[in-house]
Amino acid sequence: ALIGVQQLMHVQEAIVFFLTFFPILLFSLYISWNSTLHGRRNFLRSLLDDWNLHSFKNMAHTDELTQLFNRRQFVHVAERRIHEWPTSASTCLLMFDVDYFKRINDSYGHDIGDQVLQKIAELARKEMRRADVLARFGGEEFVALLPETTLEDAIMIAGRLRKNIESHPVCIGNDIKISFTVSVGVSKLNSDNINLHSLIKEADIALYRAKQNGRNQVASFDLPTI
Ligand code: GH3
Ligand code: MG
Ligand code: MG
Repeated sequence: ALIGVQQLMHVQEAIVFFLTFFPILLFSLYISWNSTLHGRRNFLRSLLDDWNLHSFKNMAHTDELTQLFNRRQFVHVAERRIHEWPTSASTCLLMFDVDYFKRINDSYGHDIGDQVLQKIAELARKEMRRADVLARFGGEEFVALLPETTLEDAIMIAGRLRKNIESHPVCIGNDIKISFTVSVGVSKLNSDNINLHSLIKEADIALYRAKQNGRNQVASFDLPTI
């Protein structure tokens, strides 16, 4: 176009030239601007789609109140973890349940009950290591899969968690402190029969034993008394 302009001798020719090429120039600028905008819009849209998918997946496997895994996600992750190769030497499970939680709800209201569950989740999360799988299993019941952990260590961890929960009340206002406790059931994965369902069942039996013996204590499925 520049060479063409340089070659033009007369003003009329220049006008004709501009009248012909200027719209083409404008049109091509518009097309290129439009495609850049379109590209950016598509990029942003795909970013947003990814984010939505991520949030949706998160919502599907996270418990809203405590932000721990929910039961379905726990089973999914724990199943994978116990069947991982090489097989872990010893894997244990803790199942803990708030003692007399109904009384807390009845005396202080459901919101305070929710705060208690959040506090327990926070304290339990601090107690866990990277490989452990912690989840809210049901209403006021939690589970933690502890890979590479002997039964003795699992019982020790359970005891530490129990004490920690006992000594961290939830405060309402300035002067009301609500104390609460948990009972914990401990089970150990049977290396001859790697079965998550049995592991959960045995922890549940141990938990029931801890409740029966007076609550605020740890019971193991394999060791009758601790
Ligand atoms: P135990 O020592 O035998 O475990 O007695 P408990 O009172 O803790 O057990 P129970 O099964 O009688 O009551 C559990 C209560 O937990 C009943 C239910 O309303 C309450 N609950 C379940 N999910 C939630 C929740 O998300 N928030 C609150 N605030 N309460 C809940
Ligand atoms: Mg309870
Ligand atoms: Mg319960």
